[in-house]
Amino acid sequence: MMLDLRTIYVVSAMTCLVLGSVHLAAYSTGRFGRWPAWWGISNLLIGIGSLCVSLRNLVPPFVSLDVGNVVTIAGYLLTFFSVRVFAERPVDKRYCALAIAGVSLPVLLFTVDPATVSARIFYVSIVCCLCDLAILREGAAIHRREKLFSAGLLAWLYAPTAAIFLARSLLAVSGQIAGPGAFGDSVVHGWMGATAVVFFALRSVVIVLMAAERNSGKLIDLAHRDPLTGALNRSGLAQHLPFKRPQSLALLAIDIDNFKQLNDQHGHVVGDDILRLFARVAQSVLRPSDLLSRQGGDEFVAVLKDMADAEAVQAAESIRLAFSFAVGQVPGLAVFPTLSIGVATSRENDFEQLLGKADEALYASKRRGRDRVEASTGEQAA
Ligand code: GH3
Ligand code: MG
Repeated sequence: MMLDLRTIYVVSAMTCLVLGSVHLAAYSTGRFGRWPAWWGISNLLIGIGSLCVSLRNLVPPFVSLDVGNVVTIAGYLLTFFSVRVFAERPVDKRYCALAIAGVSLPVLLFTVDPATVSARIFYVSIVCCLCDLAILREGAAIHRREKLFSAGLLAWLYAPTAAIFLARSLLAVSGQIAGPGAFGDSVVHGWMGATAVVFFALRSVVIVLMAAERNSGKLIDLAHRDPLTGALNRSGLAQHLPFKRPQSLALLAIDIDNFKQLNDQHGHVVGDDILRLFARVAQSVLRPSDLLSRQGGDEFVAVLKDMADAEAVQAAESIRLAFSFAVGQVPGLAVFPTLSIGVATSRENDFEQLLGKADEALYASKRRGRDRVEASTGEQAA
């Protein structure tokens, strides 16, 4: 079945113009960051470019061919930069403008001479193909970095259009799409165009999905973290537990000694600094897979997966000594807070039971003079 290519260009233009306007409207609310402005303008440019191309033989060739192709390529390149802006990677506007001008303006070298039509189609198609591949790569990187499912989806949505533009460039090189009647005389060209339009529309949906997924991830993270120290809060810790099939679990119940006295003597601002300092020091000693949670006030819990008793006590000692050293570096302190730590380990995955044992060990360390690590004897006081 033959599809009318001019109609497809018009549909593509309208779709891009509407999507671009919607994104710009979203940007104007100031609630969505900078990326919708970039994405919106890129869609508008592709829409204007496609509209010009669709008017071939109805308007002067300068408009349909020169302006149409230059603006389409500019829009395409801008889509790539939009995804980089979404990825929160630095985008230098001058470099961006230079790249767009350097890649889109050479289209003007191809004259209206029918002999150069296939060369122009080849150039435009290959630029669009490379752009799609670059965006595919960028989407895959966002997917890996931010664990966004929808970014993987975006990457895959660029694969079919990259293939379509590659095929189009090969058809142009082999002379199968060229000449003054480039509209409506190729079944394959028509179907490729129709397929590409569907993907253009889908991408705009998916980038909105990416923004929604990223925001919901940020909100969940905020809800699961203590804003002062960045450590997990109780619900954040519960979210990460229980571990799947741990060989053993070690739990450190940590309390800062004399913290009230520090607050009284130096004020709550210094107290807050010490809480932040503790979290930084503990995180630097713990492994990336370990969890640190602020239980409330000056009490913290560290959960260490697959760690034997002696190693867990060693880790607790390292945290105690590192904190003591870090506190010694704080200028002007008259009260030097230390750490009391209770350690409990188990082969079971029963967190509550383990927490009870670690707490017992913590209180034992308080009773025995503070600034020390005590390992649980395995028995809880009645
Ligand atoms: P101990 O050695 O027995 O642990 O005594 P302590 O002085 O550390 O006293 P305790 O643990 O009972 O008191 C904790 C204090 O921490 C009481 C509270 O005012 C203070 N605190 C709780 N949350 C915060 C906070 O977010 N910032 C600051 N600066 N202080 C806090
Ligand atoms: Mg305390």
